[in-house]
Amino acid sequence: MAENSGGRARALRGGIDLGGTKIEAIVVDSRNNVRGTSRHPTPTSGGPPDVVQAMAAAIAEACARAGVESESLRGVGVGSPGLTDPETGTVSAARNLPGWEGSFPLAEALSKALGSPVHVGNDVRVATDAEFRLGAGKEYRSVLGVFWGTGIGGGVILRGQTWLGRGSAGEIGHTVVKLGGRQCTCGRRGCLEAYAGRGAMEIRARAKHENGQHTILFKLMEERGRTRLTSAIWAHALEHKDKLATELIDDAVAALGAGIASAVNLLDVEAVIIGGGLGVRFGQPFVDRISDAMLPHLLHDQNPPAMHVAALGDLGGALGAALLARQ
Ligand SMILES: [Zn+2]
Repeated sequence: MAENSGGRARALRGGIDLGGTKIEAIVVDSRNNVRGTSRHPTPTSGGPPDVVQAMAAAIAEACARAGVESESLRGVGVGSPGLTDPETGTVSAARNLPGWEGSFPLAEALSKALGSPVHVGNDVRVATDAEFRLGAGKEYRSVLGVFWGTGIGGGVILRGQTWLGRGSAGEIGHTVVKLGGRQCTCGRRGCLEAYAGRGAMEIRARAKHENGQHTILFKLMEERGRTRLTSAIWAHALEHKDKLATELIDDAVAALGAGIASAVNLLDVEAVIIGGGLGVRFGQPFVDRISDAMLPHLLHDQNPPAMHVAALGDLGGALGAALLARQ
């Protein structure tokens, strides 16, 4: 019996979606069915070792819910922000994580803490891979994943393969939608993210609010005990027909239409999958609006790509991370 359950545990893998606000951990079986999940807040102070500790705790909890020990997992994959090196397992310049400006051997440190092998990949790429293999992209050979959240991340799959370029392909958030346009968090001007990223929209909403424009956005934020404008708050403000929220989201949709259409003109992918916090929260009605906004910019507008909402929802990142641990 013991041998049998050990064999089953070996078939289980862990996946961690390491985000700036939360750590989402899952345990999956050989068919990628989710057997246990757990969500922990990302530490806001300290440094990489503190983040590793929180990740280990999250996996231990997901394992407990799946009825296995973390040492018995076949492996654990991590989808991480920043520059990831799959060969060495190091993560550098993950600026939305505390004290992580430099380079840190994440795979090595987490492997030591968990007692099982750890594989590291870029968060957006693994999420795109998950949609391609298990979600909305299953039927296609070429896919563009667009993750609409605090920033705008992208992933490209061509002929069934992730396209990495020289290591940093897919940065659709920093394609230029307006020359000399708004300041982006990357320091450049006119990027898609400067118009459609939740972070950039919040900065703009705050400035307009301080200049006397009425909005319920910040009232909603206080009522919910939040310090940021979450996707749920944006959705709520839109339902209440808040003028400022509507204006900013309209701008975001227009910018997404231009940015994604430009990428489609270049790559001619079969399908575009819209995910991320805002993408998943807003769902199909907004995917339809983005499709409409793309049309005037599409060269071959009689043959637009299929457009889908990410099918794996909030767990997509963690599922994609778990795919890294297949070997
Ligand atoms: Zn930028």
